[in-house]
Amino acid sequence: MGRYTGPKCRLCRREGMKLFLKGVRCESEKCAIARRDYPPGQVTMRRGKPSTFGEGLREKQKVKRFYGVMEKQFRRYFAEASRSKGNTGETLLQIFERRLDNVVCKIGWAQSRAEARQLICHGHINVNGRRVSIPSFQVSVNDEVAARGDAKSQKFVRGRLEETKGRQCPSWIQAENENTKGKVVSLPTREDVSIPVQEQLIVELLSK
Ligand code: SF4
Repeated sequence: MGRYTGPKCRLCRREGMKLFLKGVRCESEKCAIARRDYPPGQVTMRRGKPSTFGEGLREKQKVKRFYGVMEKQFRRYFAEASRSKGNTGETLLQIFERRLDNVVCKIGWAQSRAEARQLICHGHINVNGRRVSIPSFQVSVNDEVAARGDAKSQKFVRGRLEETKGRQCPSWIQAENENTKGKVVSLPTREDVSIPVQEQLIVELLSK
């Protein structure tokens, strides 16, 4: 029997893929999915071919878990994406990517999105010089995200930068690690979404 590594890893096992819920551990060889330290068959116990409905549901769950949002918020984002002129699925993913907690995590100031949410809620992050304590805040082009200047915020963020230094910052964010700042230089595109997801299945599921 494989070693039990906690409920978050169990979610990844259920989806059969890495959802990056435990920070730097997910990028290391200790990751349960990388090690596959679970018995064969534990991940996919599904019977037969899933229905289109089932597939759509699974893709939706994957996105919700990856970005750490609840159903109600997911539905709100979907409604917003549906109203936009662009491709609904891509716009939906762009909304998730533009969340402040995602940005803080991608820059490497937090090990995971959950930790980024905590950092933001505790008031350690500024956007354009003003404190923002809402993790779902949507960043826009030219926004400057920065760790607050007080010793506690700086110590925490610099410590995390040390731990996450192998993490690749996406090209739509220009990070200035020495100044614990980052600038949004463009909007994220579909290629910037690191989770393998078939967003069209989500659109079909929720458009019915
Ligand atoms: Fe656990 Fe790996 Fe999933 Fe991270 S990516 S939560 S370490 S199984």
